[in-house]
Amino acid sequence: MAVRQGNSEGNGVSGSTGACLFDLFCSETPSLNSQSQRSQWLPHVTPQERLDNLMRQAGNRFCADCGSSDPKWASSSLGVFICIQCSGIHRSLGVHISKVLSLKLDDWTDEQVDELVKLGGNTVINKRYEACVPNNIKKPKPHSSIEERADYIRRKYELLQFLDTEKNLQCSFPLSPQRYLTCSPSNAASCGFQMDKRHYEKQTTKARIGTALRHSWGRKESEHKISKKSTSLAGMVQFVGLIKVNVVKGTNLAVRDVVTSDPYVMLSLGHQSVKTRVIKNNLNPVWNESLMLSIPEHVPPLKVVVYDKDTFSTDDFMGEAEIDIQPLVTAAKAYEKSSINESMQLGKWVASGENTLVKDGIITLEEGKVKQEIQLRLQKVERGVLDIELECLPLTQ
Ligand SMILES: [Zn+2]
Repeated sequence: MAVRQGNSEGNGVSGSTGACLFDLFCSETPSLNSQSQRSQWLPHVTPQERLDNLMRQAGNRFCADCGSSDPKWASSSLGVFICIQCSGIHRSLGVHISKVLSLKLDDWTDEQVDELVKLGGNTVINKRYEACVPNNIKKPKPHSSIEERADYIRRKYELLQFLDTEKNLQCSFPLSPQRYLTCSPSNAASCGFQMDKRHYEKQTTKARIGTALRHSWGRKESEHKISKKSTSLAGMVQFVGLIKVNVVKGTNLAVRDVVTSDPYVMLSLGHQSVKTRVIKNNLNPVWNESLMLSIPEHVPPLKVVVYDKDTFSTDDFMGEAEIDIQPLVTAAKAYEKSSINESMQLGKWVASGENTLVKDGIITLEEGKVKQEIQLRLQKVERGVLDIELECLPLTQ
């Protein structure tokens, strides 16, 4: 990890390296923001170094939603830097609204950093999404409850209640005719209109699966959790850690498109869901893609569903499985502060006729990391095996 000793005062170009200036320049001049142009300018700057610089910009040093200092997460689709607690709520909105990545633990590509730069960071995004917050709605603080955060974040990004548009009926102060005029297509980006249109398009194409999953899980949790409150708050709980799920590969998956399939994997933990990229025409896809989820206090099973991506109709189901991550979480808690360096076996999830395991899922401690390799036989489908690696991380990351 690159450690920079830059001036960290909040002038927006702190730690003034070429990468930061270039990113700043690109945010002003989007047409210059491409991989080839960047490599001409900056041949040796890694995506992580560019991210580090973005994190130092004044507005990005505090969570966009609650103001906590030093946020370690970002929504790459919304372009905001957020804290761990708010990141859990972003994930529960679904990837069609907010795609959450860890600033330190995920491997960012230059393209993903480009996207963040283009969106403009916390200050710019909050100007759009919080343009018009009614007086009776209070923005969460670093110590606000999960319910307060969830309510605000949902209004802000999912219901888009605080946008400065004529559709925003929740607005407490009337919009002047001049304001409408400023939202002409020529400068639409400055009032957030363009982004919101894209946002709605995304929702219509991708919302189905995510929403269905969230609802089916939500019902279960709300029964014993928050039965009388608004459904938007159901199941919002404290998080005890993070789980990094590496979706390694699929083997001999089911055919859904004449002779082959375009598979991707959706992971759900409580109300959060994330998914891998689609691999076209492949029944033995290798994703090797790591996805991060927050672990709620009452650990739910990790639900894994494989789908075949269809452009013109609902994605086809290609099998599912459930993983009990409680033993892994327990082992991670027990060894969190351990100083043992050699590899050792901590336990195992034994394969049997009653579960979906192909072989025993062994929990190991390797270089201080608690991991589990799992090979699952997909259920409710004719065939298919999925290889997954799990790693539990403490909440301090
Ligand atoms: Zn926050």
